[in-house]
Order: sequence, then C-alpha cells, then structure tokens
Amino acid sequence: MVLQENFRRVEPYVPGEQPKDNNVIKLNTNENPYPPSPLVTEVLNGVSGNDFRKYPDPDVSDLVSTLADYHGVDKENVFVGVGSDDVLAMCFLTFFNSGKEILFPDVSYAFYKVWASLFNIKYREIPLNDSFEIEPEDYFTENGGIVFPNPNAPTGLALPLSDVESIIKANPNTVVIVDEAYIDFGGESALSLVDKYSNLLVTRTFSKSRSMAGMRIGYCIGCKELISVLNSVKFSFNSYTMSSIAIKTGVASVKDDDYFKRMVTKIVDTREKSKKVLTSLGFTFLDSSSNFIFAKHREIGGDELFNALKENKIFVRYFNSPRINDYLRITVGTEKEMEKLFAFLKDYIDKRQK
Ligand code: PMP
Repeated sequence: MVLQENFRRVEPYVPGEQPKDNNVIKLNTNENPYPPSPLVTEVLNGVSGNDFRKYPDPDVSDLVSTLADYHGVDKENVFVGVGSDDVLAMCFLTFFNSGKEILFPDVSYAFYKVWASLFNIKYREIPLNDSFEIEPEDYFTENGGIVFPNPNAPTGLALPLSDVESIIKANPNTVVIVDEAYIDFGGESALSLVDKYSNLLVTRTFSKSRSMAGMRIGYCIGCKELISVLNSVKFSFNSYTMSSIAIKTGVASVKDDDYFKRMVTKIVDTREKSKKVLTSLGFTFLDSSSNFIFAKHREIGGDELFNALKENKIFVRYFNSPRINDYLRITVGTEKEMEKLFAFLKDYIDKRQK
C-alpha cells in the first residue's frame, strides 16, 4: 500500500467526445466546421520527413514575431504554447502562488478547477448572476489571481470591455487572465488594455476561429515582465513545446487574414440565423457572442434531447451540473449541418408534443 500512498490523484478534466465515426454531425466541442486557410494546406503539402529530423526552434521565433506583428505588440509581449490549455496551465503554475484563493466564475470553463487542484492552488468559484452574467463587483475582493473567459463558456455571453477593465483595475496586485478563446466571434478584446495594465494576460487559441484544433496552438499577450517569467517556467518544464509543423502552419494561418475573416463572418451569420430557428422551435438561449449557442427547450429536458440527438448521430454537449442541466451547448456548424440539426429537432419536438 505504500506505493499507492505516494501517487498524485487528481480528478481530470473530461473533454467532449471525439467519435471515431466520421459520419456524424459534430457540434459538441466548438470546433470550426470549415478547413483552415489554403496557405496552411500548402505548408503541409510541402513538408518532408527531413523537416522534423531536428528539434524545433525552442523560442518559436517565427510564430511569436508573426503574432506580435499581427497584434501590433513587441515579440517580448507574446508567449506561445500547445493550445491555450497549455498556455493557461503554464499561467496558473507561474502566477497563482500567493497561497490566497484564486477566483473564477461558476458557470465557466471546467478546466480552471482542474488546474487549480493539480497545482494545489486554492480557489473560489463566484456564481454568475441570475442572468448568467459575470458581476464585476464580485471580483473586487482579496484574491490570489483571477481567470475568466470572455465570451464566457459555455454561456457564450460577452462581458463589456469596461467591466473587464474594472476587474483588472481593482486587482493591481494579482494577475488577471482573460481567456479569449472565442473573442473572434464577438465581444470586445482586452488586448487594447495590455499596455495599460501590468497585471493583465490575454489568452487566445487557434482551435476555434482558425480551424486548427488538431494542430494545438495557443498564445497569450501581456506585459514583458509577465511573458519573461512565463518563459522561464516553460523552459524549466519542456523546451520544445511546439512542433516544427505547428509553428509553420500557425504562421501561414496568421498571414491569411482575409480567409480568416471570411470564415468567422460565415460562422457568425449562421449563428444569428440559428438563433431565430431555435426560437421558432421553442428554445430559449443566452445571446451568444461565440461560435456556440447555449439553449434550453421550454418543455423538453436537456438530457433527453442530448440522447435523442446522439442516437441520430448528432453530437452536442450536455453538462449534468446544477443550474445548467437543462441546456445544450450547440456548436455552430455549417449551414447544412445546422439545417439537419433543426430538421431533426422539429420532427422530434412535433412527435413528442402530439
Ligand atoms: N478556454 C476555453 C474557454 C475553452 O472553451 C477552450 C476549449 N476547450 C480552451 C480554453 C482551450 O482550447 P485549446 O487548448 O484548444 O486552445
């Protein structure tokens, strides 16, 4: 038994299902339904085995400077990692060391709790208000750090920039992480505040708006001191976090801004159309600024709909947690995928109501 006593036991994060069957409509993990930029495919087509014979650039200079140029900051303001999960985990490890509780919302991204437990960081979850919004004043209190997504997940609701700023301003002695995984689909970015506040970190991902979830690229932007400390921790952990291919394809994606903007616009258009259809089908939902809609039906429970959809090879996300167990989180897919989803729902609801 001595052996087992020394194991580190954690309750892991459970990601959304990745079905092996390609023949499903997959609206459960907020992926982008469209392919990445053709420039990304071009890079991949030109790759040979010899390209990864050597270790990748440990400083990821090409991607860091491409992102710095794109956002109009210096390269010393940018930190990159293997998806924003990796970046967020590094941030928790680096900045949440005061021994005081860190704060994040309840309801929010379920991984925050898992990293806090993994790194032995005390935390307090702050309930969203009755409209599922973050109340900035709740964060004007002693803490060891703050993290929240904007737009929030899985609600999809965006917090106005003035409210985001009020939280950063009220906490000059702790790091505030604004997780902007979904910001390209709506809401106001806090990047404009990075110059003004030395306690702000903004995290971003290539997984949603850039259609590159499988490539695992994320980054954050903050003042030079924060980024430098973050790099010291990263280099104490793993020098080569990002593969050569991820670095090259990431650069290609950022260079094709026109394609990126067109795909985001398409998804936002489909989202807005989908809101109307959902209303006509008897759903209510939070007014999403992201690439998913958090919706519940007036009469039919979330778990029932989730299971009925799954049986028909339509995957959405369902969270069996207090306050949100009547909701489905539906990723915005292509127009065609959404039509199929709505056709099924209409049929199911009609039959159920007879
Ligand atoms: N933050 C939020 C709010 C998310 O929903 C996700 C996606 N699961 C992530 C961060 C992490 O995304 P990735 O690691 O793919 O960049």
